[in-house]
Amino acid sequence: MRRVRRTPSRANGCCEICGTPEAETCNRRLVVDHFGGRPAQYIRGLVCDRCNSVMSCHDGNKKWGPRTLPYQQKAAEYAANSWQTPEEGLRLQEFRGPLDRV
Ligand SMILES: [Zn+2]
Repeated sequence: MRRVRRTPSRANGCCEICGTPEAETCNRRLVVDHFGGRPAQYIRGLVCDRCNSVMSCHDGNKKWGPRTLPYQQKAAEYAANSWQTPEEGLRLQEFRGPLDRV
């Protein structure tokens, strides 16, 4: 279950990494990208399914491959410009408990 159903995209309804419009993504929707590790969980933005994989590579959970590698630089820029900061994530976590328990 997703806690955040619709987060307005800063990129006007497009993936914030590759710029694909929501209607042209494979599931016709963008997904909320959470950073799920330490120091805290926080929302980074709205991305398409492919770029969700790109961020898994960026986080070191997957190996970079031919589909994801071209977006390595954009992923780093996007991650540096997250919706929430780790500090905000920590504060929210203290207030509400871990995101996956809400
Ligand atoms: Zn994308």
